[in-house]
Amino acid sequence: MGLLDGHQALVTGAGSGIGRATCLRLRQEGALVALLDIDGEAAAVVAEELGGGPVVVADVSDGEAMDAAVQRVAAELGGLTILVNNAGVGAVKPLHRYSDREYDRIVDVSMRGTFNGIRAAAPMMLEAGRGSIVNVSSISGMRPTRGEAPYAASKAAVIALTQSAALEYGPILRVNCVSPGLIETPLTAPLMGDEKTRASFDRKTPLGRVGTAEDVASVIAFLCSDMAAYVTGINLPVDGGSLLPSSQVEGVLTAILSLSD
Ligand code: NAP
Repeated sequence: MGLLDGHQALVTGAGSGIGRATCLRLRQEGALVALLDIDGEAAAVVAEELGGGPVVVADVSDGEAMDAAVQRVAAELGGLTILVNNAGVGAVKPLHRYSDREYDRIVDVSMRGTFNGIRAAAPMMLEAGRGSIVNVSSISGMRPTRGEAPYAASKAAVIALTQSAALEYGPILRVNCVSPGLIETPLTAPLMGDEKTRASFDRKTPLGRVGTAEDVASVIAFLCSDMAAYVTGINLPVDGGSLLPSSQVEGVLTAILSLSD
């Protein structure tokens, strides 16, 4: 028996990284899964890995397209009880170098895309009397980073949207959020660099390694399931402990601790 038997799920950004891993995990837990991505070919490959499932090619920042996607998926799957608003894009550059277009794209996909997903799915879930929505934010939305101002701000907005929606749609729906730390996916491939850089990311993470898409997918599956039946409005970091406050004094404290061994 799976954690999500009898559920119907829609995952955005399903063709790659965390979205792909989430589709596989939700399916493994028994849910029927529909895949939405702007890249239809990538989503179709993942659908094949799942053994089938509706594929919707859409841009999450297009409200009408999201409404249509939700209606279509619910008709094909026989309802919709889970929505994972995962699609996101990023960039790294000084704040003053972002063009309007770059700013709009980042904010539109993360913030407007999450808003569009909730707006499209919530009425149908409320009518059905149950539903769980999980949004994908980032630790950058909790502890903003250099070079990622529009991304960090849009991910902070995703946390706020989660909390507003949890208040508005309880007690019928649960709305939660995960904030991944550094996770190895195509999005972060340019950051990983050579073996030395990668090893330093591993070393600086309290759990000793960069995360995997599966690490995030399993927490999303948990939040979607009845195991989290009394959890709503939370933002759960999935970051190997990297948000823990330590970097400023870490070297000094490690040296002192090693003397007391
Ligand atoms: P990814 O591997 O780049 O996958 C994202 C998927 O979303 C891609 O298939 C992408 O298609 C699709 N997509 C992009 N824009 C879209 C749009 N407008 N409408 C529909 N689909 C769209 O990224 P990931 O690393 O798995 O990230 C997934 C989520 O986790 C994002 O929200 C990201 O911000 C968040 N996150 C990731 C990390 C990390 O370290 N990886 C950390 C914190 C948070 P294209 O490839 O064609 O663009």
